[in-house]
Amino acid sequence: MKVRHLNCGILHAPPGPQASCHCLLLEDAGRLALVDAGIGLEDVARPDERIGRPAIDAAGFQFHEHLTARRQIERLGFEATDVRDIVLTHADPDHAGGLSDFPDANVHVAAEELAASKSGTQRYSSLQFTHEPRWVSHEPSSKRWFDIECRPLTLAVDAEVALVPLFGHTLGHCGVAVRDGDRWLLHVGDAYYLRVELSTDDHPVSALATLRAEDDAARRQSLAILRRLHEEHGAAIEMFGYHDVDELPESARDGFTSVISPMPE
Ligand SMILES: [Zn+2]
Repeated sequence: MKVRHLNCGILHAPPGPQASCHCLLLEDAGRLALVDAGIGLEDVARPDERIGRPAIDAAGFQFHEHLTARRQIERLGFEATDVRDIVLTHADPDHAGGLSDFPDANVHVAAEELAASKSGTQRYSSLQFTHEPRWVSHEPSSKRWFDIECRPLTLAVDAEVALVPLFGHTLGHCGVAVRDGDRWLLHVGDAYYLRVELSTDDHPVSALATLRAEDDAARRQSLAILRRLHEEHGAAIEMFGYHDVDELPESARDGFTSVISPMPE
């Protein structure tokens, strides 16, 4: 199984730093799975309609077709239908926009998040779901990953992957654990925006995290879990989030900087 890191979008709302949309692409025997879907082609085509001007301005959404997961996967020589599964950390517009570019994929999400996304809450973009994603809802589980709850997933790729509840940013926000040889990758989604949050609450980004949290007390508990995992199992778990550009590997960062001079086809 091959794991690729893709940057599937850019957000920049000064004075905050530029933010990435750090997705994972798992490849096994010609089959693909995506972790988070980034900003999609439909968002690029109709941003005001899909995401709305207030949200675009507040979060600093940028729209670059060549960064969409769909276009990046095609450049790798695959087709959209090779993506059999998408695992969502949560359904915010900067994470779910690419779903409609892969309408045949099963979309794995925590049951709590699916319910929240269908509740009519303003933060989600209902237009990103009008193609009726093939939702696979994952209920609470007694299974454990290290010493916390996990919800193991069955995917078309032969890989050990599990949702790890890290609620708070949204009501059903999860991390995604992926076994990579003798260690684990943990995509923490938006459980932190910047890695510095693992070591301090005294950073301007913490105020933004509180502001964007659906349940800030739960968010803080989730952050405490990540801090403990990092401290106790740092060698076994490689942790990274969706928005911290510095956590993107060098090669994916090239994709990121290619925005300045668009990537040649
Ligand atoms: Zn986000």
